[in-house]
Amino acid sequence: MTDEHVRVDDPAGFPPQEDTVERLWTPQRMTYVLRDSSDRPAKPKAKECPFCAGPAKSDEDGLIAWRGTHVFAIMNLYPYNVGHLMICPYRHVGLLTDLDDAELFEFEKATTLSMKVMETVSHPDGYNIGINQGEVAGAGVAAHLHQHVVPRWNGDANFMPIVAQTRTMPILLSDQRTAYAAAFADLAPRFDLPASSTI
Ligand SMILES: [Zn+2]
Repeated sequence: MTDEHVRVDDPAGFPPQEDTVERLWTPQRMTYVLRDSSDRPAKPKAKECPFCAGPAKSDEDGLIAWRGTHVFAIMNLYPYNVGHLMICPYRHVGLLTDLDDAELFEFEKATTLSMKVMETVSHPDGYNIGINQGEVAGAGVAAHLHQHVVPRWNGDANFMPIVAQTRTMPILLSDQRTAYAAAFADLAPRFDLPASSTI
């Protein structure tokens, strides 16, 4: 067989690559990705941990939306989407398997409560909820367990670049925290959870 008989498909004849992965464009995350490496301790100790430091501050300064008995809800300083909350245990533990039964129960119940709070405050069309456990799995603060609760709206991947630019985020975070805190206080008792801090 000579070379002229070797079939070589013309790439121009290929069907276009189907890419069904939905992407959320989050330019504000660049401040996190590109932050100074000196701000990036590889293994944060408990005293340097943002999820240990947060509850020690006022609700406003710590961006705390709700304080339960075993867990709390905190705004994400580098949100994937507007209104991104995280549920964290007060204890500095890294894995879901480190939680005792009471913590685990409130951790999941607070996640459900967060969805209800978001539904009340901003009527999302859906949610991304999940935990990255361990650095290899993408956890930014691997040493302290946190469940992401991210509200989603139809088309938010398109309008995100417009509404969620870096400069407007601090104002959005503060406003969002205030709105969430009021809804948490109102709704938590219906979930048999404390309305406000017990810590
Ligand atoms: Zn911690």
